[in-house]
Amino acid sequence: MNDNKSTNIIWHDGKVTRDRRSQLMKQKGATLWFTGLSASGKSTIAVEVEEALLEREKVAYRLDGDNIRHGLNRNLGFSADDRHENIRRIGEVSKLFADAGVISLCSFISPYQADRDEVRKIHQEHQIPFIEIFVDCSLDVLEERDPKGLYKKARAGEIKGFTGIDAPYEAPISMELHLRTDQLSLKEECQVVIDYLLENNHL
Ligand code: ADP
Repeated sequence: MNDNKSTNIIWHDGKVTRDRRSQLMKQKGATLWFTGLSASGKSTIAVEVEEALLEREKVAYRLDGDNIRHGLNRNLGFSADDRHENIRRIGEVSKLFADAGVISLCSFISPYQADRDEVRKIHQEHQIPFIEIFVDCSLDVLEERDPKGLYKKARAGEIKGFTGIDAPYEAPISMELHLRTDQLSLKEECQVVIDYLLENNHL
């Protein structure tokens, strides 16, 4: 769908390329996209990975579902259309961060495969690495964890359209990494991510 409302706009190229920025910064930009149900561990892992990258002298920056909804996306709710727009905007912002040379860590439930594929496409079109990480955990464990009490509220009917309870989550089929957070420790999960980045020449 082409929903472009702007006309007569022409891209203005700069003189500094991404490669030159990358040489200066001694790192390559990329987007790590953490997807999974609420409380699966997306934000917790992103925080850990951010610190592990910093220790390797790599700059990362976290874009986090709740945080972004406080600002840039505060005018969006949780309908399918708003969830789509939420992810589209974040995808574009993350692409900008990665283009600037930063390792962008995105933690968003992002329940629809089509939306995640759209973000991947935005990155591919600009030859920017997009790494989809499925943060997977059984619903039983999630409901036990329930750090924000949201599952309890959703089960009681106090939250409508809660992903995994009465709104769908489309698990990734083809992703770069699959983390079972009900089987691994946080430290192990972080190591899997760092190893992947090293093995695939992203660091
Ligand atoms: P999300 O960002 O996916 O909504 P959070 O990171 O906010 O999830 O919450 C995950 C919760 O699960 C945290 O309270 C965290 O301490 C807990 N947790 C328990 N085990 C793990 C694990 N192996 N990996 C990540 N989080 C875990």
